[in-house]
Amino acid sequence: MTLFPEMVRGVLSESIIGRAVSAGIIEINTYNIRDYSADKHRRVDDTPYGGGMGMLMTPQPVCDCYDAVRASIPEGASVRTVYMSPKGKPFTEEKAWELSRYDCVVILCGHYEGIDQRALDLVADEYISIGDYVLTGGELPACVLVDATSRLIDGVLASPECYESESLSDGLLEYPQYTRPPVYRGLAVPEILLSGHHEKINAWRADMAKKATESMRPDLIRGSEDGENK
Ligand code: SAM
Repeated sequence: MTLFPEMVRGVLSESIIGRAVSAGIIEINTYNIRDYSADKHRRVDDTPYGGGMGMLMTPQPVCDCYDAVRASIPEGASVRTVYMSPKGKPFTEEKAWELSRYDCVVILCGHYEGIDQRALDLVADEYISIGDYVLTGGELPACVLVDATSRLIDGVLASPECYESESLSDGLLEYPQYTRPPVYRGLAVPEILLSGHHEKINAWRADMAKKATESMRPDLIRGSEDGENK
């Protein structure tokens, strides 16, 4: 649900997600909130009560759009409605897994100064943020959420191994990877990777993943230790 459906369609019709949609593995529908405005000039925003800068999206078009979305969802489907917001809980791989298990995820994108609180109270199950910074709209965050969640759905990637060995899948960052040529600008691929010795390669990768996590994201290791201590 957005005021700028073209932004979302453009991003999500390309590459892996676009192919998954064409193959019928996932379905992505955009709803233009403006189409549901009861105002004769199709207005969707107004000044905030109590004063303050900017415009706020009014509740009527958002709620009527939401009713239309809900009416299009087959009965019995599991549904989660997410409002993209810098006030939300940070989006994580774990949250992407959780959302991937719903039949249907409805995503509400705000714009301008955001959305009248009553509409949010009426439609949103949860708020999700993609990071501690403020964007002009929820469209890019929605694309991030759809991309990260969709790639976990069976058939979207070539095989589950594609995400099983990736950064964060096991709480660690990924080991460094190399492809041809064996030497580039004087830098050689680590010899172990050319050895054909799979056990040693796996041990090297595990070690490198640990080192990468310790140097780039020590908080991930601390976080898992805190979890163990609980
Ligand atoms: N006034 C709002 C506040 O302070 O929380 C910010 C509104 S922001 C300019 C407009 C819209 O962009 C929000 O309604 C939200 O949908 C989206 N947005 C901005 N930053 C975001 C973030 N970090 N994560 C998710 N959505 C975000």
